[in-house]
Amino acid sequence: MPSIGGAQVVIALQSVSKAYPLGHFALRDIDLDVEASTTLALLGPSGCGKTTTLRLINRLIDPTAGRVLVNGRDVSTVDPIELRRGIGYVVQNAGLFPHMTARDNAETVTRLLGWPRDRRRERSAELFSLVGLDFDGIADRYPNQLSGGQQQRVGLARALAADPPLVLLDEPFGALDPITRRKLQTHFLELKASLRKTMVLVTHDVDEALRLADRIAILIDGRIAQVGSPREIRASPQTADIAELVASALDA
Ligand code: ADP
Ligand code: MG
Repeated sequence: MPSIGGAQVVIALQSVSKAYPLGHFALRDIDLDVEASTTLALLGPSGCGKTTTLRLINRLIDPTAGRVLVNGRDVSTVDPIELRRGIGYVVQNAGLFPHMTARDNAETVTRLLGWPRDRRRERSAELFSLVGLDFDGIADRYPNQLSGGQQQRVGLARALAADPPLVLLDEPFGALDPITRRKLQTHFLELKASLRKTMVLVTHDVDEALRLADRIAILIDGRIAQVGSPREIRASPQTADIAELVASALDA
């Protein structure tokens, strides 16, 4: 694995651009490193290219220019199935399969991996407790019988099922009421400290990025506007727009 100043770089985007048909650029010439066991927040307004970035990392889409490296390997040379086995993905708005129970949703990956039934069940019980859900009360319910917060927790359990070293989270707390969001954020901080995963957390909420991330990359119109620790972003925002963004979070 490559290293910069001693830290291991797990994800590297090198001069990455993504243009969609008709010439619309979702990302322009992005350079970004994520170090092992750290959480990077990808922060920016709707449409700035956050989801596109996550999809490039687990190779749901390919860049039109540049390279994406995971553990030092260009993802375009890695079998996508093998790549995704090492990457948990919490999709925007929980994205649970509506016709499957909470438990079956959480077992999506372990089933694909061919784990026997007992082992899968044992793992889901463990995961439900990890994400703060009562297994007996929740496991057999369908997504429409769960609150938004419970659905997000099941989404997180699904992403963590095979204990991937790398986790991508797309606005995991975006659709929740403020109290539930706060509660899940606190839980996330506990999990982050105990699991030590490498994570990319997408959010449009500055306050959330400042609270949860080790580093923040601010994405505006498909370009990186600033990268730094929460402290650096707070203390020296590099443009007037970023300063305004940070001020609004501190007022709230
Ligand atoms: P975010 O997650 O930050 O809200 P996205 O990464 O989803 O933004 O999208 C970035 C830009 O790329 C948006 O302008 C969006 O409309 C555009 N885009 C996303 N997916 C496609 C697609 N499949 N075809 C064309 N344009 C797309
Ligand atoms: Mg998005």
